[in-house]
Amino acid sequence: MSEKILVVEDETKIARFVELELTHEGYEVVIAHDGRTGVDMFFSEKPNIVILDLMLPGLNGIEVCRRIRKESSVPIIMLTAKGETMDKVMGLDSGADDYMTKPFAIEELLARLRVHLRKNVQKEEDNSNVLRLKALTIDKLKRSVKYNDEEIELTKREFELLTYLVENKNIVISRDQILNNVWGYDYVGETNVVDVYIRYIRTKIDDKYNVKLIHTIRGVGYFAKDEE
Ligand code: CA
Repeated sequence: MSEKILVVEDETKIARFVELELTHEGYEVVIAHDGRTGVDMFFSEKPNIVILDLMLPGLNGIEVCRRIRKESSVPIIMLTAKGETMDKVMGLDSGADDYMTKPFAIEELLARLRVHLRKNVQKEEDNSNVLRLKALTIDKLKRSVKYNDEEIELTKREFELLTYLVENKNIVISRDQILNNVWGYDYVGETNVVDVYIRYIRTKIDDKYNVKLIHTIRGVGYFAKDEE
């Protein structure tokens, strides 16, 4: 299976050139010409790496990078035009893995792609990104959840809640701890939001597969249980 590269670049000439070269190298290439489409395509196409121009119409590269980083650690190579100061880009700490100044030699881009793709494969193989609980597997990097190899669709919050419970499996966790870690310290809503989301997860996993993964300790909280 060839690796998929998302190129977000508004200059159609550059985008086309990069597309041709990368396709020639055997990569699968998808192109977005503005930031917003770039973000959408990132989530629909699930590329292995992103080449992202800094100055884009709609959302700029920094914002696109920030939105991708919230959900994924896929490598991002940021392109900047001459004159856009690198300090500024770096200082903004957008979460990009690498920076290249245009115009660049295609060989250099190819070399950097290979480095980052290789690094990412190693990251994926690192088991610390994969959590298990009975037949449940959570891949934190891909943000995917499977039960018996069957993909389970969870919302972002459900995913974070489940991950937090499984990371702390066999330990009882209070609602406050869950709120602080999953919803954040600044959360000001009802504490029963935790119970509501536990119910969502149970419907999608425990009920569906007829297992008991998440246990309730009345008046205390919840825990994900590994052993019977
Ligand atoms: Ca541009």
